[in-house]
This record gives sequence, C-alpha cells and structure tokens, in this order.
Amino acid sequence: MKIVVAKTAGFCMGVRRAVDMVLDASNQSREPIYTYGPLIHNPQVLKMLEEKQIFRMDQLPSKGSGIVLIRAHGVPPEDEQSLKDLGFTVINATCPRVIKVQAIIHKYAQKGYVTLIVGDEKHPEVVGLSGYAKGRGHVISSVDQLRELPRFDAAVVVAQTTQNTAVYKDIKAWCETQAPHYSVFDTICGSTEKRQAEIRKLARENDAVIVVGGKQSGNTKRLAQIATRTGKPVVHIEEVSQIDYGRLSSAGSVAITAGASTPNWIINEAYEAVANHLQRQHPVKTGLFSIRDFLLKTNIMAAAGAGFLTYACSRLQGIAQDSHHALIAMLYVLSMQILNHLFTVKSDTYNQPQRAVFYENNRRSLWLLAVLSGAAGLYLSFITGAVSFMILLVMSLLGLSYNLQLIPLRFNKRQKARIKDIPGSKTILIVMAWGIVTSLLPAVSNYTDWRSVAVVFLFAVGLVFARTAFFDIIAIQGDRITGKETLPILLGEKRSFALIKSVLIVDMGILMVVSFTELLVNRAVLLALMPLGMLLLIRFFKHNRHISGPHREFIMEGLFVATGLLSAVI
Ligand code: SF4
Repeated sequence: MKIVVAKTAGFCMGVRRAVDMVLDASNQSREPIYTYGPLIHNPQVLKMLEEKQIFRMDQLPSKGSGIVLIRAHGVPPEDEQSLKDLGFTVINATCPRVIKVQAIIHKYAQKGYVTLIVGDEKHPEVVGLSGYAKGRGHVISSVDQLRELPRFDAAVVVAQTTQNTAVYKDIKAWCETQAPHYSVFDTICGSTEKRQAEIRKLARENDAVIVVGGKQSGNTKRLAQIATRTGKPVVHIEEVSQIDYGRLSSAGSVAITAGASTPNWIINEAYEAVANHLQRQHPVKTGLFSIRDFLLKTNIMAAAGAGFLTYACSRLQGIAQDSHHALIAMLYVLSMQILNHLFTVKSDTYNQPQRAVFYENNRRSLWLLAVLSGAAGLYLSFITGAVSFMILLVMSLLGLSYNLQLIPLRFNKRQKARIKDIPGSKTILIVMAWGIVTSLLPAVSNYTDWRSVAVVFLFAVGLVFARTAFFDIIAIQGDRITGKETLPILLGEKRSFALIKSVLIVDMGILMVVSFTELLVNRAVLLALMPLGMLLLIRFFKHNRHISGPHREFIMEGLFVATGLLSAVI
C-alpha cells in the first residue's frame, strides 16, 4: 500500500503563529497566561497547553491580571477593549488574514454598508467579524439564505476565511447577476483553498483517505466532507488509536491530510502508525526496520556517524592513529546523545513519540549505557594525553549541565538560568561539541598544522551544523512546547534553511579551494561531495516533509558513515 501525505496538511500560518506566540509568552513570563476561548480546535494541543499552565478563559471575568492571548480567529473589538480595561496584558494573535477581513468590514460599516458574512454563525471567527459590522451584519451559509434577505442599497460581502470555496463561488455568482452593486471580496484564505483542492485531487487519485484533526474543527470536518463526496472510504481521526484499518484493508493507496489546527507530531504519528501496520505484513521488512529503529533510538547510529566523521577528519589531516580518536568520538557522542534524550523525554513525546516510549521503558539500561560510554571515552582520552582528557572532561561537564538550573530562580527574574535557556544554545552546543571531538581532539594529540586543523574543523562543523539544524527544524513544534532554545526557533524556518544552505556551500567551497594547497592530503577534494550530498538530501526532505522520520534520520546519519568510508580512498 502506498501512503501519500498532503503537502498542505497541518498548521496553517495563522494557527502556527498563534501557537508560537502563546508558547513564547509562556517560556518568557511567569505571569498567568490565558487564551480567550480554546486556542484551536485540537484536543491534544489543548491538553499540552494545560500541562504548560496555559489556561482557557471562556468568559470575561469581573477582574483579572496576567496575559490573555486572542486566538487566530479574532474577537469582536469590544471584547479586546474589555480585556484591556480589566487589567490584562493582551497579546493579539489574530491571524493577519482575518485582520484583513475585519478591516474590510470596519471600513464599509463606517460608510453605512450592511455586512453579509458567508460562514458558520457560531464559529468564533464569524462572531469576531460580526463585531465589526456596527450592528448591521447578517451571517448566511447558502445562496438560499441570501435570497431570503431583503435587497440592500449597499452591502459588502465577505466569507469566513475557512469557508467552502464552492459555496462562496455560488454566492459570488448570485451577487454578480442579482445584486451587482454589492461589494464582494475574496476573503477565503489561500491556505484553505489549497488544502481543499489538494484533498479533492488526492481523494480522486487514491483508494482511501485519512483526515487527521479535531472533530470540532470546522475546516477539518470540511476536508472529510470533500473527500467523502468522491465516494472513497474516509476515516476522520483525532488520534491514531482511532484508525479503522478494516476500512482501509482493500485500499492500494491511502492519502493522509490534516486540518489547519493539527500539529505535525500527530500527522507524523498517523503516518508512522499506518506504515508500521503495513510493515507488520512483511516479516523481512519488519526485521530490517526493527534493526534500524534500534540503532536510531539507542543513538548508536549517531555515534557511528561521529566516529566515521572523526576518521574522515583525521584522514584529511594525514593523522595515522585515526581509529582511536574515532572511538573516543563515538563514546562521547553516544553518552551525550542518550543523556540529552533522557533529560528531554517530554519534547520527544511530541516529536518522536516512539523514541519517548523507548526511553521511558528502558531508562535504567540507557542511563547505564550513557555512564559507561562516557567513562570509557574519558579513559581513552586520558591515556591519549592530559590535554585531550581535559578538553573531553570540560565538554562532558558542559553537556551534563545543559539542562541544569545554574542560577537560582530567585536571583534571576528573566529565567535565563540554564544553558538550555540561551537562545540557539542547543544547536550551537551540539555543533561545537561534535566539531571538537571529531577534528580538534585528534589534532591536539598529533600536533598537526593549525591551519589544516582549522580547515578540517570548519568542514566537520559545517556538516554537523546542517544535520543538527535540519533535525531542529523538524522538531520545532515539540521544542517550542518544551521551551528548548534551538536556532530554528530563534531564526524561523525559512532563514534556518537559508543558513543551512549557505553553510554547506561555504563548506564545499573551502574544501575545494584548500584541496589545491599542501594543507590537506591528496584527493581531499573528493570529500567536498559530502556537503553537496547533504545539501541535496536536505532539499529533498524539505520538499517531502512526510517521509518517515526514522527513514530520514537513518539516511542523514548514514551520510556521516559514508563520509568516513569515502575518506578511506583519499
Ligand atoms: S486558515 Fe488562513 S486565515 Fe485562517 S488562521 Fe489559517 S492562515 Fe489565517
């Protein structure tokens, strides 16, 4: 069975912006935080917000303090003013596209126009929009309802941003012929249109459809309705346990889509659940994938990548005793990666739920493995030399203290008390740590030319930066929820991708230029293929977001193994 995930599945811009705003407020402030109404119609996200002490306020209280976030749907202007008058700090997270519709209504209402809103009367966005109509608003949901209204001298027609495009098309056509003096605006959000058009197409092309998202979410329900109209079996689920595999059993291909309020981690979970269900029907595949998953979950694959990269860095500098340092790097990375996951099981719950379960179930063994590998790495570096040992010791301590409260909260009003709280720290620390163990440690004990060390360090850091920042982009929602400060959270996705691209191009360029000098060994230029490979891989994954997470991770880590193997021929 083939599984296709809609490119448009998941948070739209407005929802992502609102969720980011409330999570940023929660990570930066100690005041109580409320959302005015449910932030979005998704039970898992609402549960997650409650766990973060972000509460839902359904009615205006008599008095209050703290922060109130107005959700993407917007509110009537008088509600926003009342919240301010009551003493709340208001963060307005109304989607900019909804604000545009509010502005249209406001402008025409001031001129005395009647407002006709095409949408669901009770939908919060429509309630908010009606508040701008100065008491002259009507909500309609079909051409029939429009016909029943009197013909107004002046009216402005707008649609709820998530309205069905076909319904609005009929209404616009009626206005054109029956009331051409009405001012009609195209206010359906492009993201809704694209999402609906894509599911129409995918439902036609595939044998069954899974729609992931809240049962109360209007736009998610509409996706299920559109897919159902094609006559294909449609399963609307809020969580993966609700997938009815019986209804999908005869399907040769399944399309998965999700509403604008469905977070990525639930879409990924649905994809993994269907893929795992299929794998169970092929014993050989099941075996192979189990091995892959074990290597990834225990971080043996990442550690192997670090080892092979160290080998490559040593080869580039012409260092003979390269396997020894490769082993130190493997043990260090294995220990730090496991510890990092043990400390941050919570963000894995959102980003990689299966890994989180693995860590919960095997806590003791993983702790033991982390301690033993860390100690073995330190011992090996000790017998290598005092400087290597000291460097590795300092890095291990830094890694261990990453999640610890270093400054007591009472001395620290801004809550930047852990290394973890420094913006971008996670990405930068991982990159520096890998760079040091893979390229500097071997050089320190072999007294190589500092210029070649610098070049190889940049080469290693470039590759590791691209890998880490890419994984951080994928994990951005879970990291933001748990307050991890990664570079993509600081820069945003778009700029992070641009930065990864630039770093890899520079990486490639440096190696190519330096290959023509005496600084590195002959044929070093061959390794310039690795940043190029990484660039192409990341580009591919960027445009194919819902390739299975473990596949993606295995291939990325595999590129480091390939770097080591390629270096054997230089
Ligand atoms: S669907 Fe469009 S208008 Fe509505 S919140 Fe999302 S981006 Fe904004």
